[in-house]
This record gives sequence, structure tokens and C-alpha cells, in this order.
Amino acid sequence: MLKKLSELEKTARLLEPSALERQDLVTRTMDYAHDFLERVYTDHAFLPDSGQKKIFEAEFPENPTPYADLLNLIGKEVDTPGLNPASPGHLAYIPGGGLVHSAFGDFLADIANRYAGIHFASPGAVEMENMLCKWMCNMVGYGEGSGGTLTSGGSIANLAAIVTARDAMGIRSRDIDQSVIYMTAQVHHCVDKAIRIAGLGEAIVRHVPMDERFRMNVEALDAQIKQDKAAGLRPWLVVASTGTTDTGAVDPMDRIADVCEAHHLWLHADAAYGGFFLLCEEGQAVIKGLERTNSVEVDPHKGLFLPYGTGAVLVRDQRKLAASHYYQANYMQDAYRAPAAISPADISPELTRHFRGLRLWIPLKVHGMAPFRAALAEKIWLCRYFYEQIQLIPGMEVGPAPELSVCIYRYRPQNGDINAFNDALVQSIHNDGRVFLSSTRLNGDIWIRLAVLSFRTHLNTIELALQMLKENILKLED
Ligand SMILES: *Cc1c(COP(=O)(O)O)cnc(C)c1O
Repeated sequence: MLKKLSELEKTARLLEPSALERQDLVTRTMDYAHDFLERVYTDHAFLPDSGQKKIFEAEFPENPTPYADLLNLIGKEVDTPGLNPASPGHLAYIPGGGLVHSAFGDFLADIANRYAGIHFASPGAVEMENMLCKWMCNMVGYGEGSGGTLTSGGSIANLAAIVTARDAMGIRSRDIDQSVIYMTAQVHHCVDKAIRIAGLGEAIVRHVPMDERFRMNVEALDAQIKQDKAAGLRPWLVVASTGTTDTGAVDPMDRIADVCEAHHLWLHADAAYGGFFLLCEEGQAVIKGLERTNSVEVDPHKGLFLPYGTGAVLVRDQRKLAASHYYQANYMQDAYRAPAAISPADISPELTRHFRGLRLWIPLKVHGMAPFRAALAEKIWLCRYFYEQIQLIPGMEVGPAPELSVCIYRYRPQNGDINAFNDALVQSIHNDGRVFLSSTRLNGDIWIRLAVLSFRTHLNTIELALQMLKENILKLED
């Protein structure tokens, strides 16, 4: 038996790199990262897929493969084809960029492998995450008793909020088909998904009409709730947006909150895209009333420019979040006597989880807040500039003036179908690839979007986007 153990140990120990091997890993990884970052401002934002990838051909052999070979494969087959979200030219969907300091936060979190699910196991890690959530609660204007948890992204954060609302409003299985949820048709599709996952698929969903700027019409909301109540239904939830994905529309949260208070509905704000604009004055001028919501979802991997993998759900009364997500009732008692000791496992669907606080805390501390505020204000002004400049292109039609950093526009061709032209225009921008734009459909029509949120996007990229649109329109009009 001892001989067997000694043989197994010899091979098992290969999992631990020596000091020399570690040094080699660091050097090679940093060389790769340096090379990537040196090219990030000039590489294309989008490259069409070239097809079959070698990386997925083989199974895993028993014997080692040199790390250098793997980096080669990753560089060619993973980090090259498709969209490059780290590029300043990523102006589609909702960008963010991926702060470099966050990568070191992940590195440190992974090396030490702290257990960030439970306070007892890693008080420092958990208190850091709680502090970050408290900071975000303060940003949206929540007071004493509020709290939240860091999630993998916005979809999961919305799900946690909807489950919390369901329980807090006492919606039981037998109530569901009489229960009514209100939102505009512009609410992010992950909310529909969350409603289904939360077992609320049979609830009645009312799409509240919007004004000409795609914002919720509050009078129509109020009238619909009254009508539903009179019909014996059970209105209980409004989901509003602080910055829709399609057009960046900011719902009038203050007035929606008036309606929700009057009728005793839970108000959830999806601020995945827009929430962090509260860190700059330009954003504060637009975003009002978030403090009156019952729950908010924000996405640090958008508005704080983190690499993908961090969202947050924030709840005005943290106990409601815990009531839906606790895992051990007896333990909760003590947790509430010492509120600083609340653990992510008490208030999220997860138990064992990535220590995702470090990737957020390090950049905020290392940079200080000033560059974040400046970058966010800069995005708003870049979008305003684009919106102004694009109207100078003859034939260009624009949507509503941007409230934050998203706007929509389309070209009216001299002849032919307007939708087909704009579809072809987006395709030609994709084929070009220096910047990446996406389109959407509004009332059946194709509109092209500009979404400025990467910390790497500055004026030169916006000028490039304008120039590429002009060039490609000329080509297509030929
Ligand atoms: C991105 C986004 C989401 C979804 O968040 P993920 O982090 O992608 O899961 C939800 N709502 C809005 C408004 C968004 O922009």
C-alpha cells in the first residue's frame, strides 16, 4: 500500500508547479497579455469566424502539453475570431471593456481561493463584498437596512430580485394566473426569462405603452393597474428600466414610484446599463428616483468597465432578499443580530462561488473615483457628439436625443427598401470590422445603434465610426 501511495503521490504532485515553473508561467502569461494590450487600440473590433478550430479537435491526452503551445492556440482560435469586447471599437450591445486591474484581482482571488460564500470562512472577503454592495446601495440612494449581493451578471441579479419580489408580495402558486406584472416592451429579455424561471410563467404580463422616447407612460400604467384591480386581478410588480438596451431610455422612476406606492406594488429597476451613470453629474441629471424602488439591478461589468462576470442585486430592505434566499433559518437569527456578518450564501442562490469582490475593489481603490466619473461623463458627451455629427450626413435619420450613451439612427437611401439598406449597412460595417455596431428592430423597422460604454472608447473611435458609416453608405449607394 505504501508503495502504491508513493507512486500516486509522485504523479499527483505534478499539479503543483515549482517556483521555477511559476516564474515561467508568469512571464509567458504577461508577455501574452502585454502583446494583447499593445494591439488592443489598433486591432479590429470584429473579425468574422474563419471556421474549424484545432483547439477543440483533440481530447485531453494523459501527458502534458507545453503552456506556450496553449497560449498560441488561445491567441489564434479564441482571442481572435468574433467580437473583441476589449476593443475601443466595440460600440454595440452594451460594452464595458474589461479593466486590467480586475484581472489581477481575479488572479489573487484564485491563488488564495478564499471562500467568499460564508462570513465565518472568510470574514475579510465577505465584508469586502458587503461593503461594495453597501457602496452601490448608497449610490442609488438606499438607506439603512439595504443590502445586496454580487452576482455573475445582470440576468441572475434580475432573477434574484424577481424571486424576492414574488415572496415579499406573497404571491403563491395559486395566485399566479391572477397576478399581473407591468413593464414596457423595451424591458430586457432576461426579465421575461427570469419571470419564467421564477415559476411565474402563467402570470399576466402587461406591456405598458411608451412615450415617443420609449419611456414608460405613467398615466397608462396607473390606468391599467386600476382597470386590473377593478377586474379582480392582483397587480404586484412593475419592472422599469434605467437605460434600456435598445435606445438607452430612462423610465421616469419617481413618477412610477408614486403609482407603485399608491397601489402597493413592488418596483424593480433594471439599471444594468444605466445605473453607474449616477457617478457623474450628467447621469445624475437624468436618473431620478432610484432610491424609491424596492430593488435595483446594476452591472459592474458594464458601467464600471469590469471584465465579464459581475452584476449586483440591491434591495432596499435586505431582509426581503434573505427571506427568499436563506438556507438555514436558525443561523439567520444570529446573522441579523450582527448584520455586518451577513453572508452571500444567505442572500443569493449560490453557496460556493468565485470571490468576485476583489476584481471590483482593486480597480476602485487603485484608480480612485475620479477617472470613473470622468469616463462615464465622457461616454455621455461622446454619444451627444455622435448624435450631432451623424445628422450632418445627408439622408441620415435619428431617433430620440440620447439620455445617456446610446442612440439610434438609420439611413434613408435614395432608392429601394430602407430596412434592406440599413441591414446591408450593418453587414458592411461588420465586414470592415474596425468598429463594431449592432442594429435593432423598433416597430418593425431596422435602426442602427451606437452604444458608448467601453472605458477605452474616446473621440478618435467615434470619429472613426462616423467615417466608416459615411464610407460604407457611399459604397452601398453606388
Ligand atoms: C445587459 C443587460 C441585462 C442583462 O445583464 P447580463 O449581465 O448580460 O446578464 C439586463 N438588462 C439590461 C438593461 C441590460 O443592458
